[in-house]
Amino acid sequence: MLAVTAGVVVAPSASAAALPPKVPVAKGTGGAVVSDTVQSTLAGLDVLRRGGTAADAAVAVAAVLGVTDPNVAGLGGGGYLVYYDARSGRVSTIDGRETAPSTADEKLFIDPATGQPYAFFDAVTSGLSVGTPGNLALWQRALQRWGHYDLDDLLQPAIKVAEDGFPVTTQLNKEIDQNKDRFKQFSSTAALYLPGGAPPAVGSTLRNPDLAKTYREIARHGTDAFYSGSIGRDLTKAVQNPPLAANATVKPPKGKLALGDLRAYRALDHDPTHIEYRGADVYGIAPSSSGGTTVGEALNILERTDLSKLDRTQALHYYLEASKLAYADRGRYVGDPKFVDVPTKQLLSDSFAAVRACRIDPIRAAVAPVAPGNPLNPGSCTPPPPAVAPVADHEVHTNHFVVADKWGSVVSYTNTLEQIGGSAIVVPGRGFLLNNELTDFNFTPTQGTAPDPNLAAGGKRPRSSMSPTIVLKHGKPWFAVGSPGGSTIITTVLQIIVNRIDFGLSLPDAVAAPRASQRNTPTVTAEPAFIAGNPGLATYGHTFTAQAEIGAAAALEFVDHGQVLAAGEPTRRTGTSAGVVRPSR
Ligand code: GLU
Repeated sequence: MLAVTAGVVVAPSASAAALPPKVPVAKGTGGAVVSDTVQSTLAGLDVLRRGGTAADAAVAVAAVLGVTDPNVAGLGGGGYLVYYDARSGRVSTIDGRETAPSTADEKLFIDPATGQPYAFFDAVTSGLSVGTPGNLALWQRALQRWGHYDLDDLLQPAIKVAEDGFPVTTQLNKEIDQNKDRFKQFSSTAALYLPGGAPPAVGSTLRNPDLAKTYREIARHGTDAFYSGSIGRDLTKAVQNPPLAANATVKPPKGKLALGDLRAYRALDHDPTHIEYRGADVYGIAPSSSGGTTVGEALNILERTDLSKLDRTQALHYYLEASKLAYADRGRYVGDPKFVDVPTKQLLSDSFAAVRACRIDPIRAAVAPVAPGNPLNPGSCTPPPPAVAPVADHEVHTNHFVVADKWGSVVSYTNTLEQIGGSAIVVPGRGFLLNNELTDFNFTPTQGTAPDPNLAAGGKRPRSSMSPTIVLKHGKPWFAVGSPGGSTIITTVLQIIVNRIDFGLSLPDAVAAPRASQRNTPTVTAEPAFIAGNPGLATYGHTFTAQAEIGAAAALEFVDHGQVLAAGEPTRRTGTSAGVVRPSR
């Protein structure tokens, strides 16, 4: 069923009949993958089986997701990758976040005609929201550092799936349907995703020959074809002059991204964030994402209380309060460190956590929003200064996947177009959607009289919440986790870590458990099952806003006898596809 020709990995047949079912949990040896779609998981497992590293498999998975999960992944987006390298025993990260055009400034989203910010819908569905995509540069960098295969080999599975087509899932159909008013504005997008004016039917075969051609061009000519060649030219043209449909009802503001911006793009090697939590070492992504600092700060705060000794309701109260405090600090201090001084070390210091932790009333929720602390001068526990109301971050979706190889190297990689369907602009003739990542900048200052670290500037990366995480115990990988979900990503990752370490749930149970997200807002966003299952939290003063689903995690854990337990979602977002190279009996 699987074949390899002259080192070229060939994907399995994409026909529905040949596809194994999607399973959320798998256990075995030889390597593991957990990703959104069956085809991407199979492609990753095939690379692992053929001696590829976790980095090799991750590139194959990400490229296939660009075909089968096109609204949240692919060439038009960016992401962050955390890597545990079994050879060196080190954790490293690559920042493939999108950048703003060099001509951008903090008025990027201010309409010059009115002096007011653009309406969010207009800003999102426009070239203005598109940043230089970083995924491809990240893939190349990961292969340079840890790969056995070349990029051209690893794009072959995606080329095959794009060419043969794949069965449209209920999730893909739903996403296209939810975005049809945006997708019909652009002729290239409508042609690909609204054939005959409607989303492709569930179970029908969707082919993307333009994307196959684009991947082929990259396979042949390398990443330059994208960042300085014909693909880049087509991309910037689509940003500056979006291909409006004849019956378009929007007049989107034009984007400024130019070929020079693409040429200047680099995926960045960063040190990971690191904190110790109850004897484990938690590694995350440093700014420009707020993931590592916010998850890490909240864990540092929580570590001062032994949650396992508390009644579960009170332990969850601490979880919500720690998250509330960490979010206040995220808003005030985290942005692209090339442009603002981010006190990463201080945000993750135990002395700061001690002062923040003493703000938690053991039996009463603080009225949100709470004010940020001062990591540079933590002081002692004094009454809180007035708070600045938080800005609602959008809770839309991206994707996260994890890979482990037979040597024990691990990838935890979150990648995104920002909103489902990104900017809604498919680059004509190229078959991929462009991101709307620049809308992760704050459109106007949000921090009152204090500076806002997340305003747009030329070449700047917008602040992210993506939180790909790898946890080590005794210097060896223990588990890896991440999730989509906009600003709820941070709390999803935090909650899974607390579920696993403090509450002792198995990893599949930690992932499946009902979720709640406290992001320094007056009410806690929570899944209905969490609200129903934790009535006692009301007595602590927590109030809830229900949200059907929060996040869609992918995780894996090293368990007994060298086995890996791959754990995805049983139901959220129609489930995740977990697989291992050699299943245990
Ligand atoms: N753009 C979001 C971020 O970087 C991720 C997209 C999402 O999951 O909503 O935080």
